[in-house]
Amino acid sequence: MARTFACKDMGFECNFVARAKTDKDLLVKVAQHARQAHNIEKVDSDMERKVLSVVKDA
Ligand SMILES: [Zn+2]
Repeated sequence: MARTFACKDMGFECNFVARAKTDKDLLVKVAQHARQAHNIEKVDSDMERKVLSVVKDA
C-alpha cells in the first residue's frame, strides 16, 4: 500500500505522479516537483492540505 499523488488532480495539465509510503515522504516529492515543474517555491500549509486532499491509497 502506498500513498499516491497525481498532479492533474490539483488542476494542473501535468502527468506527474508521486508515490510514497507516508504522507511526509510524499510531500517531499511533491514539493520537489512543484518547484521544478511549476515554479512553486514553497508548498505552504494550505497547499499541503490541498495536496493531501487529493492523495489516494494505491
Ligand atoms: Zn505537475
